[in-house]
Amino acid sequence: MQMNLGIQAGGWDRERVMQKWPPVGMSNEEYAQRWRESQPQFIQGSCVFCERWGHGTGKCWYLVPELQPERWKPEAGIWVFGPGMSYPG
Ligand SMILES: [Zn+2]
Repeated sequence: MQMNLGIQAGGWDRERVMQKWPPVGMSNEEYAQRWRESQPQFIQGSCVFCERWGHGTGKCWYLVPELQPERWKPEAGIWVFGPGMSYPG
């Protein structure tokens, strides 16, 4: 993991933000929880995290592993909270 990259950008590496990866130093659990509790949870009916229609961040499959259907495949490039998640590089 690259430890210095995020700090000069105020803790948010640009690419991490684009792909919604947790900022350096924040645990996956805390990151997912922040999203789940964020306001607003959706904009015009679409999740502010994954931008899919019909749910808010509190019920987002990317953020709530318990809600993920068995055969669901997350879209590449979007961070997922749960087993199988990994940092790039
Ligand atoms: Zn979502």
